[in-house]
Amino acid sequence: MNSFSFCSSMKYSFKIASVWGIPIELHITFILLMVAVAILSYPTFYLFALILFLFVFVVLHEMAHTFVARHYNIKVRKIVLYPIGGVSEIEEIPENPSIEWRLAISGPATSLLIGAVLYAASLFITIAVAPTTISASLTTAGSLILDLATLNLLLGGFNLIPAFPMDGGRVFRAILAERMKFTDATKYAAYIGRLFGIAMVVFGIIFYGYFLLIVVGLFVYIGATEEAEQTIVSTTLARVRVSDVTCAEIGSVTPENTLAEAMEVMFKFRYHDAIVEKDGIYQGLVVWDELVKVKPEQRSQLTISQMPLRKISVFQGESVLEAQKIMVSQKIAVMPVVERDNPEKVTCVLTTEGLAAAYDRAKNLR
Ligand SMILES: [Zn+2]
Repeated sequence: MNSFSFCSSMKYSFKIASVWGIPIELHITFILLMVAVAILSYPTFYLFALILFLFVFVVLHEMAHTFVARHYNIKVRKIVLYPIGGVSEIEEIPENPSIEWRLAISGPATSLLIGAVLYAASLFITIAVAPTTISASLTTAGSLILDLATLNLLLGGFNLIPAFPMDGGRVFRAILAERMKFTDATKYAAYIGRLFGIAMVVFGIIFYGYFLLIVVGLFVYIGATEEAEQTIVSTTLARVRVSDVTCAEIGSVTPENTLAEAMEVMFKFRYHDAIVEKDGIYQGLVVWDELVKVKPEQRSQLTISQMPLRKISVFQGESVLEAQKIMVSQKIAVMPVVERDNPEKVTCVLTTEGLAAAYDRAKNLR
C-alpha cells in the first residue's frame, strides 16, 4: 500500500531503521501482534518466524514504492508497519497517471516476484535436496519458504485488488485519469474503493477465519473517503487565487522594536507570527516559536533585528493551495501577500482563518 497522509495522525509508532534517509517504523499494534504470536506459537515459534519473515518482505514491498518515488523526486516521509501491512507515507501523490501507476504497481510486482523466486526455491529444496538428506530442519525450512512464497503471492495479488487507496486502486485511478479529469477519476476510484471496503468487512464478519479483512475493509473505506476528499479539495484549492480570499490586516513590527513589544503586537492581533517592516519595506516574518525561545528577562533588551527573520511571501495571483503548502511546511499562521510588481510591499496577509474560508468555498465549488 502507499498512502497520502490518512495515517499520519496516528502517533504510536517506533523507528527501527532507516533506508535512504527514510525512517521505517513499527506501529505499536504490530509490536503487540508479534508478542501475541510469539506466545501463541510457543514452543516451535514457527508462526512467529513466518510472520517475522513476512514483514521483511512487506518492507521490501514498501521499499519498491520508495525506490520508484525517489526516481521521480517524490518525497517519502516514512514507512510504517501495521499488522495488516506496510504503508509508505508519500508527501504528495503525483497527479500524473503515468507516474502514479508505476509508483503503485512497483510494490505488488515486487511481492509477486519474491513469491515466484521463493516458490522455485522451495520446490528445489523439497524435490532435489530433501529426499537425499531427509533432514528435519531442511523440511521445516522448505515448508517455511513455501509458506512465505504463498504469502508473498497473496500480498502481491491482494494489493492489486482495485480498491482505492490500495495499490490496485491507484492503478485503477491512473487508468481512469488518462480518460477523464483527475478529480472525477478520484471520485469514481474512491466510490469503488468504498464498495470493496464494505465487501471486505461483510466477508470478514461472515467468515470468521478472515476477521483481519474487517480491519483492512475499514482501513480501505476510511482511506478512500478521506483521500478522495483531500484530493478533490486540494485540486479545487489550486484553482482559487490568493486574491480571491479575504485578506486580513495584522500589525507589523519594526527591526528596532524589542521582543517584548513585538509580542504585544502579536497578542493584540491574535496571530503567532508578526510581519517585520522597515519604512514600509517588508523584511521578513518573525515567528512565535523563535520568540519564546528567548528568556523572558531578555525580551525587553533584545530587538527584532537580532532575531532570525524568514522572508516568506506569496503573490496575489498565486493559488491558495501553494500558499497553504508553504504555511504548513514553514509552520506559520500568517502569510504575507505581496504584489508581483512590488514584492517589497505587503498588501495584506493570508491567515489560517482565510485558508479555512477558502477551503469551505472550494468544497462548495465542486
Ligand atoms: Zn503497496
